[in-house]
Order: sequence, then structure tokens, then C-alpha cells
Amino acid sequence: MKEISMEFTDPALLPIHEKLASGRRLDFEDGMTLYRSDDLHGVGRLANLVREKNCGRDAYVVRNEHLNYTNICINRCVFCAFSRDQGEEQAYTFDLSDAEDRLRARLHEPIREIHIVGGLNPALPFSYYLDLLRMAKEIRPEATIKAFTAVEVEYFSRLTGLSVDEVVGALREAGLAMMPGGGAEVLSERVHRKLYPKKIGPARWLDVIRTVHGLGVPTNATMLYGHIESLEERVQHLLKLRALQDETGGFIAFIPLAFHPENTRLSHLKATGGIDDLKTIAVARLLLDNIPHIKAYWVMITPSLAQVALSFGADDLDGTIVEEKITHMAGARTPTGMSMDEISHLIRSAGYRPVERDAFYNPV
Ligand code: SF4
Repeated sequence: MKEISMEFTDPALLPIHEKLASGRRLDFEDGMTLYRSDDLHGVGRLANLVREKNCGRDAYVVRNEHLNYTNICINRCVFCAFSRDQGEEQAYTFDLSDAEDRLRARLHEPIREIHIVGGLNPALPFSYYLDLLRMAKEIRPEATIKAFTAVEVEYFSRLTGLSVDEVVGALREAGLAMMPGGGAEVLSERVHRKLYPKKIGPARWLDVIRTVHGLGVPTNATMLYGHIESLEERVQHLLKLRALQDETGGFIAFIPLAFHPENTRLSHLKATGGIDDLKTIAVARLLLDNIPHIKAYWVMITPSLAQVALSFGADDLDGTIVEEKITHMAGARTPTGMSMDEISHLIRSAGYRPVERDAFYNPV
């Protein structure tokens, strides 16, 4: 770590700076100190030290497309504004030709990554998911297909009676190259029981991801924050991800997901603010010393705050996205997509260098 003399308005940050400067790993107490500190800029400067050591002033962006193939879901998590029951108003499922039309509609754009996730729809057979992957790969052979969270993969395993290994093997053969990081929400049994009791719990999520990484399929990791979780649970979540990454090395990026309460059964809660969003990105950058990239997901925290997050530890603004549904059904006021020019402008005007990447962070 580059020796930089730093002044902090919160003296509790000094020992953390010393630890970072001497290459020592931060622990749970450090995570709590960072979260509790009122020296937001001090926390941000510490995270920025790590960010600049890792990748200088580069800020990554990908031309990507989201395909949320169904919102019918048997889990009906309390925090989810996206899911519907079969037959309910706004319930939808893309059949393969709908999905194909959506992908073909943007064939003129050099999209590098297709992000496919959806609900657990009991009407769909496992062959639907394989056909979806094959179709996407055929239409876009040059793009990486990043599809299905650990929750979906575990559901496919129960649906088919196949092991997680076998499910992932079949998905891979059909075109899957990596998996997104959703479904863990917060790795806490308490929060799991209260907000998503039908979804797999923390231990199973970690197990599935361990298996997936063991098969050579990389994933991202996320944390849904800003609902009923405590700061302690957030820090524990990050440390659980870090411990798994020590074992597998399979996480590519971490994406903090700010909870949007609107249109959910938690609509009485307040949305996260900019301070919490920036601090969460910074704490993640500092604790997750073994996960290469931290993403500021502009759909959730707005493009303007994502721009600021580049100096708080984030090195990636995700991408053009095209048509995001999940956060927008929860009331997000952000656009559903941005052009590469718009994102590059955001990055440049924040003093960073836009680097267009593929799904694995290779510059393109
Ligand atoms: S968060 Fe995912 S698993 Fe839970 S209800 Fe929504 S779509 Fe289903």
C-alpha cells in the first residue's frame, strides 16, 4: 500500500490506515468501525487507496443486456417488488420466441454480456432454461451468457432431481459461462427467516456457490442492504464472502444492492441515502481484499451517485443494461438503460478513464 499521510476527523480510522499500509487484513471490528465512523470522506479515502492500487484511475463498463424471463415466482420474498403469482396482474413469462425477439432487437449493438435471471416459475420445465441459453448463445456467439443465481440453480436441482453439479454441467453445455451474484441477500439466518423464508438460506447459498466455483464457473456476489439487517449482519456477510473467496477464488465482482422499499411489503421503510450507499461501497472495497472488483450499480443508486462512488472504492459502473425490470418494478426512478456514450461521459467527468470490458473484465 502506497504510504500517504492522511488526516482523519475520526481518529478511529488511523489504526485501520496503518493496517492497510502494512498489508494486514481488516477484521470484523474494523468493518464496524468503518461503518460507524462519521468521517465519510476518511472512509472513502481509505477505500480509494485500495481502488487506485488495484486499477489506478480505470473505471470499467460493459455493453450488456438484461433478460428477466419471468416474474412468476413461488418464493414471494417479502422484499421483492418484481415477483407475481401465476394469473396475477402484471405476471409475465417470455416464451422462447419473445426472448429471441428481445435479443434480436438489439443485434446492431456490440453487446458483450447477457444477464439472464428470473423468478422460480413452476410452469417452466428445465428444458426451457437450456433452450433459452442455447438460443441466446446462437444469436450472440460473441457475448458471455451470465445466467441464473444460486437460488435458481438450486431450484433446477430440486425440479429435476439432478445434483447441483449435474445441473451446472447441463447449463454450461447449453452456453452458460458465468453466474450473477444474487440470491444471498444478507447471509443471516435471522433475516432469511423474516424476509425470504422460502428461499435457500445462507449455508445452502454458500454451498451452491462453492460447488459452482469448484466446477470452474465464476460468479459475482451481492448484498441487498438497507432493510431490516443490522450493520453487524452486513459486516458478517462481507466476511463470509471473503472466507469463501479464500477457498475458491471464484468471485469476480461484488455488487452492493441498495434496497428499494416502494411497491414491496416493506414500503414503510425509508430508502437508503447517499451516505449509506457510499459507505457500503467503501467498506466492501476495504473488507473484500480478495475480490477484484466492486461495482456501483447505477440502476439502484442513480448514475450521479455511482459517479461519486468511483472515488469511494468502486471501479465498475456495470453497463448499458437496456431494459432493467427488477429494480424498476420496485419504483427505481433511474433510466432502464444508458448509452455507452452517456456512461463514458459520467466516468470521464468524474476524473476516471472509461475502460470497456467483457464479462471477465478483459478490456475490449
Ligand atoms: S427475490 Fe427472487 S426468489 Fe424472491 S420472490 Fe423475487 S424473484 Fe422470487
